[in-house]
Amino acid sequence: MQLPVISSFDRENVDSATFSSGLVDNFNRPITYLRLAVTDRCNLRCAYCMPENMRFLPTKELLTDDEIMRLVGVCAAQGIRKVRITGGEPFVRRGIMDLLWRIKETSGIEEVHITTNGVLTEPHIPELQKMGIASINLSMDTFDAERFRDLTRRDEFAAVHATFEALAASAIPLSVNAVIMENKNTDDVIAMSEQTQSKQFTMRFIEEMPFNGGTHEFPTLLWTHDKILTTLKTAFPTMMALGKADNTATADLYQIQGYEGKIGIIAGFSRTFCGACNRIRITAKGTLKTCLYDNGVLNFKTMMRSGASDEDLSEALIRSVTNRFRDGFEAERHTHATVGFDSMSEIGG
Ligand code: SAM
Ligand code: SF4
Repeated sequence: MQLPVISSFDRENVDSATFSSGLVDNFNRPITYLRLAVTDRCNLRCAYCMPENMRFLPTKELLTDDEIMRLVGVCAAQGIRKVRITGGEPFVRRGIMDLLWRIKETSGIEEVHITTNGVLTEPHIPELQKMGIASINLSMDTFDAERFRDLTRRDEFAAVHATFEALAASAIPLSVNAVIMENKNTDDVIAMSEQTQSKQFTMRFIEEMPFNGGTHEFPTLLWTHDKILTTLKTAFPTMMALGKADNTATADLYQIQGYEGKIGIIAGFSRTFCGACNRIRITAKGTLKTCLYDNGVLNFKTMMRSGASDEDLSEALIRSVTNRFRDGFEAERHTHATVGFDSMSEIGG
């Protein structure tokens, strides 16, 4: 069948038959990690992610559970071993726990991770632990209730903080993600790092990226990796660099001497980690992205709803992975005007 490849960028296609074990891209990078957005809907309205009057996709545009499971199976058969469930907010999807169990039990999938805003998460923690969820990233840009309401436009701090406390006390490895923004939460860099003194979690600071649904002006004064690092080093002179957890990780890790937890900085806008990228994304409406900054290279939902076989899906996946952009800058050069208008809630972060 005709594959609906929607990227117009014409690169040399590597013969997919070359790769019998696992997915490898055209720069010889093994692709083992899928970020899967299970919905675009959300119960918060973080200003860096979406406008207050965000228009979500009609339900029929979202992948069904069976479509998601089909894609997870196809990806696992091609060598994906790690899946991160994201959104939108994963826990607003009806039946999310059953879907998580099914993904967790998929042959070939070794690790399932979750990124959540924590509003609805706390009651599910015992079951997530039983399921063997490999780690949770909790998004929380401040530990101050009032500031939280300003940043997220919703009054949900108590529920999110309860999730934080419960996860920090659980056996599930926890990272807290905070996007740092000038005039919004730069004080929190120090206050949130202090939380690592007696709690075993990783406090990660993220550069703001231009995916906010179009209404929030992208700042000219960006809090970059270097600026965050300088702030931390000044406040905590005993902070040591630990390097990255592995060569494909996006966070540079640090630890303040004598503190239990760690600190991470993610250069999402500066894109210093693209060289070892091992990830692909499937958005809430079934678009395959081989780079966060590309426009989407393929629509799996359209293919599945037009009668594509698993073999067609696998071939399309391999073809896309073997025609990948070198890095986020090259991808951005070919995306024309859409960066800045997409919301991260559809992409999944
Ligand atoms: N709703 C869940 C949450 O917030 O954790 C999962 C989806 S959210 C889109 C995934 C991650 O993307 C969150 O950690 C969030 O902070 C991050 N994010 C969203 N918009 C961003 C932006 N414009 N720049 C940097 N990170 C962003
Ligand atoms: Fe929702 Fe997560 Fe976007 Fe915040 S970052 S609006 S919690 S999807």
